Amino acid sequence: MLFTAGLTMPEARFIDPEGRSVRVQLPGTRLQAGAVHYDKDQHKDKLVCICCEAPVHFRVGAQTISGDNLRGPRPHFASNRRAAHAADCTVPLRLDEGRDPTEYDLTLGYRIHINTGQLKEQFDVKARPYARRPDRKIMINDPALAAREPFSVRGAADFLRIMRKDNKERLRKAVIVNGSAQIDWKDFFVRYAYHQEKQKQFVRSEPRFHHLVKQLEKFGSPQLVLMEFDLTKPQPGKRQTLCAQSSRIYIGQDDKKVSHFIVPRLYIEGPKQAEIARILADKDRFMVLGPVRLRTEMDVATGEVCHYLNMVARDPAQVTKADLPRLAGLVKDKPTKTRQLTLEI
Ligand SMILES: [Zn+2]
Repeated sequence: MLFTAGLTMPEARFIDPEGRSVRVQLPGTRLQAGAVHYDKDQHKDKLVCICCEAPVHFRVGAQTISGDNLRGPRPHFASNRRAAHAADCTVPLRLDEGRDPTEYDLTLGYRIHINTGQLKEQFDVKARPYARRPDRKIMINDPALAAREPFSVRGAADFLRIMRKDNKERLRKAVIVNGSAQIDWKDFFVRYAYHQEKQKQFVRSEPRFHHLVKQLEKFGSPQLVLMEFDLTKPQPGKRQTLCAQSSRIYIGQDDKKVSHFIVPRLYIEGPKQAEIARILADKDRFMVLGPVRLRTEMDVATGEVCHYLNMVARDPAQVTKADLPRLAGLVKDKPTKTRQLTLEI
């Protein structure tokens, strides 16, 4: 359960006497299809969150005019005291910019702001595409970005919640904003390509890992990613050194018949090392949020070349367990033979 004191929302949900779920908007806003404005007589004490069953209520706000600016809280919906949103509800991740929800273009991909103190410092903070308004809300300078519905995430687990609950098509078209960097979803979410072919076998071609290695070779600088680590295989001798190595990916042979592999590798460092190591202790699949660097080495023993994708985890929020094949519907209690299932994000 997620307790969210002070969470404000631009919309809520009302279950009408026939049991239908109706979207409720703030007074004076442009109504979306099927939505109604808040009406005290009908809706008081009967509103819930747009995404889960948490009870919410309307607050009239306390706006005053100061010069040309409106100051103080606008009218909004707020969580009831001591009421918790469901663990998988994504409303607490939606960034309230103090704007009317109808100002966003709901056909566009999401805009996802990374909001972790530590990661911010690792990237250029100049020329941010956003600024603070006098009422402390975030204001986006770029109109193409401003039209996208915003989320604010603090770690890898928040991404997993959005993947489970929100629109996959809009996630696939999402833009990640971190400092001055804007990253397209497919460059950001680097995962193994799970799909099932006729013979029930997983066929692995890994376009996102290949693309990332090419980008890092070309530009050199570290890139912010959400990377999948498959630690389902034993890790001989690796755990003690607090370095976890994911399944390696075969690239092919070069002109000299030397085999090349891509190897995602995670170092665990800092005062929270033990806490992070506990999360990674199970043989499982994980997602890790953070900057990635490329390091190419030849293994003297085998003569193979490894292109290591090195990440460092210092904050437990960077790491979450994530069973992506299950998310894609590839693992079912009863395996299906006829449907081809693919992870679409
Ligand atoms: Zn909720």
